[in-house]
Amino acid sequence: MPTSICRSRCSRSCRRWSATGTPSTDSSRTGSSRRSSINAFDTSLSVGRLCTDEVRLAQAADDFGHCVSARPAAVVVPGSTAEVQGVISYARTRGLRVAARGAGHSTYGQSQCADGIVLDMTGLRAVHEVAADRVVVDAGALWSDVVDASLTRRLTPPVLTDYLGTTVGGTLSVGGFGGASHRHGAQTDNVLALEVVTGTGTRLTCSATENRELFDSVRGGLGRFGVITRATLSLTPARERTRWYRIWYDDLAFFLADEQRFVDEGMYDHVQGRIIPAADGTWRYRIELARHYTRRQPPDAAGLFPACGRARDVEQAEDLVHADFINRMAAGESRLRAAGDWFRPHPWLNVLLPAHATAAFVRSALAGLTVDTLGRSGLVMAYPVPTARLRTPFVRTPAATTAFMFALLRTTAPGTERSAVSANRSLYERALAVDAVAYPVNALPMSAADWRRHFGPRWHDFVQAKHRFDPHGVLTPLEHETR
Ligand SMILES: Cc1cc2nc3c(=O)[nH]c(=O)nc-3n(C[C@H](O)[C@H](O)[C@H](O)COP(=O)(O)OP(=O)(O)OC[C@H]3O[C@@H](n4cnc5c(N)ncnc54)[C@H](O)[C@@H]3O)c2cc1C
Repeated sequence: MPTSICRSRCSRSCRRWSATGTPSTDSSRTGSSRRSSINAFDTSLSVGRLCTDEVRLAQAADDFGHCVSARPAAVVVPGSTAEVQGVISYARTRGLRVAARGAGHSTYGQSQCADGIVLDMTGLRAVHEVAADRVVVDAGALWSDVVDASLTRRLTPPVLTDYLGTTVGGTLSVGGFGGASHRHGAQTDNVLALEVVTGTGTRLTCSATENRELFDSVRGGLGRFGVITRATLSLTPARERTRWYRIWYDDLAFFLADEQRFVDEGMYDHVQGRIIPAADGTWRYRIELARHYTRRQPPDAAGLFPACGRARDVEQAEDLVHADFINRMAAGESRLRAAGDWFRPHPWLNVLLPAHATAAFVRSALAGLTVDTLGRSGLVMAYPVPTARLRTPFVRTPAATTAFMFALLRTTAPGTERSAVSANRSLYERALAVDAVAYPVNALPMSAADWRRHFGPRWHDFVQAKHRFDPHGVLTPLEHETR
């Protein structure tokens, strides 16, 4: 099992944390007194590896977005579910807040926790068991860990995000969309069971048939009801190879209509679309289609090669080993790291648009965008997902048969993130005007009223679940958004 970040990076300043401390529900303490109380605890209950050094706190006060920063009082790297329970019980009795953190690839402080405790879930990263139709993993496992283990048995999760460096717990807390979502929904729709530590410190297992309310709350629950410690995920047979087509368009309407057509026809395992700035200041549109296959049964090129009369160009299909297709972002990540763009601010905005409103919305969003405001490594995506496939109650969808995931993935220069975030807010309000919903991984200030609107008819369930599973408000990431 890989060692935790904390163990490897700050072994001198991290130590085992044992605590009972004086129980207190006084949540009005200042951050510094909270910090000193965390340093001054006494012994008996083992709750994991504690880090209070400045380097570690600064890491936990940052994320992939680099747009907001909230410094915790401590970071704890749990080594077991019991240690997660210990941290939550300790925090509850002291009036401290806790945020679970996966890989920290949020863009607006979703896994930060001002003056509280950040639980670095990468301490729990084991893949326990791969069976014919499922895999049991710790929530801090990266999706690349899951793929590495499952592909050795020629199996794969039905839906993968484009990037595999996020954790299982991190994407199950938001949704998890990818090019196979048109067939299989979000990653939250492909979970068989979860182990969760609720805000009361109770360890429970849940599934569609056991503790259903908890199961429906933590999937897409943004870490507000419980900390996912272990997940049983569906697996399906993996093919050996992937044939990958890219089809270019000059016209947004044709691009969107053909994406919808490819989804309706159901011939492709992967359907996504990208919107790319052209040198002349206009935009080009690219549908990406993939078909997975075994060596013995290669796809029939004639039957598969798309008849796209309205396309400008169909690129020669690329044939890849399936594992390379799944991991296709790895090379891009290395390039972005080398160029420094990986470490720049990422004020991202993702919304799910009702299909009928997508063309007009995307057109207006692109009208306000330039290569400069998008950033040299920025990306725009738009792809359809039939909403019937999205069955996780807290993963919200617009009231339409098909939703288009529209992702405006900007990389900006340091210092300009504030204006990008306020541009996100304006665009979000325009999206709301066409009955879109946010995919809540955004660099976007959301008020309590925004969250109520976001959850819509599910708001009551959301409030009930909070009362039931986290009655003391221990698990309150995003607190800055609901003030
Ligand atoms: C390069 C890149 C590409 C991406 N591509 C996609 C994509 O293709 N599709 C897609 O859907 N998303 C994509 N995302 C978004 C990403 O999936 C989400 O931001 C995800 O939440 C990040 O996971 P993480 O492990 O980094 O979690 P974090 O950012 O650390 O946490 C995210 C949220 O989950 C909560 N959380 C984390 N772990 C747990 C746990 N164990 N139990 C309970 N709550 C927990 C946190 O408190 C927080 O609210 C991408 C992000 C990046 C940076």
